Amino acid sequence: MYYKTINVPIVLELGEDIFVHLDDILKENHLYFNEKILVTSLELRNLYKSRLDKLSFEDILLIKGGSYDEALEAMNTITNKEVLLVAFGGGSIIDAVKLMANTLDLTYITVPSTLSNDAIYSPIARLLKDGKKQSFGVKAPLGIIADVNIIKGSPEKLLLAGVGDLVSNASAVKDWNLAHIDKGESINNFAMALASLSGNSVIPYTFNDIRSSRFIGDLANGLVISGLAMVLANSSRPASGAEHLISHAIDDLFPNRSTLHGLQVAWGHLLVERDFRKPENDYEKLMIFFERMKILDEIERDITFSNGEIEQIINRAKTIRNRYTILTKV
Ligand SMILES: [Zn+2]
Repeated sequence: MYYKTINVPIVLELGEDIFVHLDDILKENHLYFNEKILVTSLELRNLYKSRLDKLSFEDILLIKGGSYDEALEAMNTITNKEVLLVAFGGGSIIDAVKLMANTLDLTYITVPSTLSNDAIYSPIARLLKDGKKQSFGVKAPLGIIADVNIIKGSPEKLLLAGVGDLVSNASAVKDWNLAHIDKGESINNFAMALASLSGNSVIPYTFNDIRSSRFIGDLANGLVISGLAMVLANSSRPASGAEHLISHAIDDLFPNRSTLHGLQVAWGHLLVERDFRKPENDYEKLMIFFERMKILDEIERDITFSNGEIEQIINRAKTIRNRYTILTKV
């Protein structure tokens, strides 16, 4: 028998008020480190001060997040090699810690303060470098501690962006299949199944559910499984198709008008289904879901491009990286 092995997160803890039990969670998983360093933002440190005071960290690094240069600078203060980095924050903080841990070859866990994208367990960091958002391949975290009560308290717009990012797996999987059929690109059926199933996991919900523990749990698990699909495929392929290229093109062409990654991806997903996937597409179904989730309201508020600009975005998306998608055929 032959098997393919996959590294799964050693820690996947999901529950109410579990962040304060960080030390117990590490001990239960037989994880011992000389030092723990918390990396978070000033805002989150102040907001969750009472909880963080219950934990012991050798050091606390306060960063803004999302910047390549800032991550490298913050990294210089870390000298101990036996340290666990604890990334507490949204995608920007987590992405910065990913780069730090990867460059210094350190272990890190993520404690998401919200769920705005699949950064919590993906092997990719998106950071601003030389004025542009760029992707960096990094090692996935040791684990995730998703404190439902903390995530529940985060702005609903961020959670809706997370839904947009997760649901877009359906589009990414279609593009991967297309590349397989048209170009013979190799596919990994297991990674594809993980991406599809996780992408569908939040479809039954409505906007009224978004503060419920069940929804937060399904969204967190879905994003982790989506990240796992990428780890297994050794590529972002299972969770990043034409809709992601469109989002990257917006970041590239209109950095001052860009919004949350997950919302841009959701907008790109709609556009691709409506205009390019023919004759069969999921545009109507997707519209109904986005309306019910009020994701459409967020998209309409934040993303307003003229037809000429949309054309520019599509043209840029086609050339932004060497990835065969439905846009390649347009
Ligand atoms: Zn994404």
